[in-house]
Amino acid sequence: MPLTESRSNLKWSEPVQLLQKAQQVISLSDNTSHAVDNLPSNGSFKVGVDLGTAYTVMVVLNAEGEPIVGEYQFTQIVRDGLVVDFIGAVDILRAMKERLEAKLGRTISHAASGYPPGVPQAERAATAHVIEAAGMACQGLIDEPTAANNVLHMQDGVIVDIGGGTTGIAIFENGEVVYTADEATGGTHLSLVIAGANDISFEEAEALKKNPVEQSRLFPIVRPVMEKMGTIVEKHIRGSSARSIILVGGTPLFPGISEVVSEITNLPTRVPNNPLFITPLGIAMHDRMN
Ligand code: ATP
Repeated sequence: MPLTESRSNLKWSEPVQLLQKAQQVISLSDNTSHAVDNLPSNGSFKVGVDLGTAYTVMVVLNAEGEPIVGEYQFTQIVRDGLVVDFIGAVDILRAMKERLEAKLGRTISHAASGYPPGVPQAERAATAHVIEAAGMACQGLIDEPTAANNVLHMQDGVIVDIGGGTTGIAIFENGEVVYTADEATGGTHLSLVIAGANDISFEEAEALKKNPVEQSRLFPIVRPVMEKMGTIVEKHIRGSSARSIILVGGTPLFPGISEVVSEITNLPTRVPNNPLFITPLGIAMHDRMN
């Protein structure tokens, strides 16, 4: 996947190898359980679970912090950052855990998880309960922007996580989150606009949106939604000292979004390779090694 960058003067280096490795080992759930070659038969590992509006991702890191196995699956168990289908979430996660255990040849007994900024304490606990009910000790809960920054190491700037249901904004100063906000506009809204414009179902629109061959034709249709996302970001960062923006999550996989956000915020904006896996990787880094 090409790296998209709206301006060349952005001073930031991305963990290219880590993200390439994630792309290689994290696969779409396909109900297969074949063993994966070259996995350590012993040694400690860390596990991250990201329960999202659109995707649930589970990834395992080895002692060196490299992703060794992982899966993602389209799910509808979370809405606006809240778990709305507890039983469904547990079933999906348990099945994912079993497939990854078969690939690893090891039992997965622990994991960390994440939550969008602004989610109440009780809902964070619900996320932990899903992990526990799926048979893992929840060893850590981390807010999603901080998780993303475990991977990106941004000192001063903005990480914008555009997922299925929400756009999350986190401003970093000296590597620490100083401001967060979350608004209910995400990739789902791009799909709704595509469905309306083409008179097709939401599911067909989702598939069309992710088809690289169709994306340039669809760009004018989805551009107003991207502009709204840019306006949301601009509103939240106005007056801050932020000088650059990194877009993560699944929606930035749609080409052209960094340019739209850059135009509206007037800040250099970049999409790293494999933006979909950045937050799950950072969540896994938050797990305790055992
Ligand atoms: P949220 O963060 O809102 O809870 P989530 O964690 O499920 O949601 P992500 O997994 O980051 O969100 O992203 C999911 C979104 O990314 C969906 O709207 C999906 O359609 C979109 N998406 C995934 N792949 C692509 C692609 N190749 N092109 C465009 N959009 C994509």
